[in-house]
Amino acid sequence: MMKPEICPYCGERRLEELQPTEIMVDDMLWTIYHYECQFCTEVFDKIITEGELQYDIMADGEDYDINEDDGEKKFRN
Ligand SMILES: [Zn+2]
Repeated sequence: MMKPEICPYCGERRLEELQPTEIMVDDMLWTIYHYECQFCTEVFDKIITEGELQYDIMADGEDYDINEDDGEKKFRN
């Protein structure tokens, strides 16, 4: 199974495959596929190592809420 079928966060199937990254680790070629869920906009990676399949989830930021609500309010009388 080369491609994840569903988003691990919300279970939807609307995945957009982004440009993969290839890196050398311990003389092994790692291909990192990036997927963006079109439903919940989470980004996760699937790492394919040479000769071995490894599934790894790395949330790409967006994990914290930036609460700027109070600063945005401007009431002028
Ligand atoms: Zn999702």
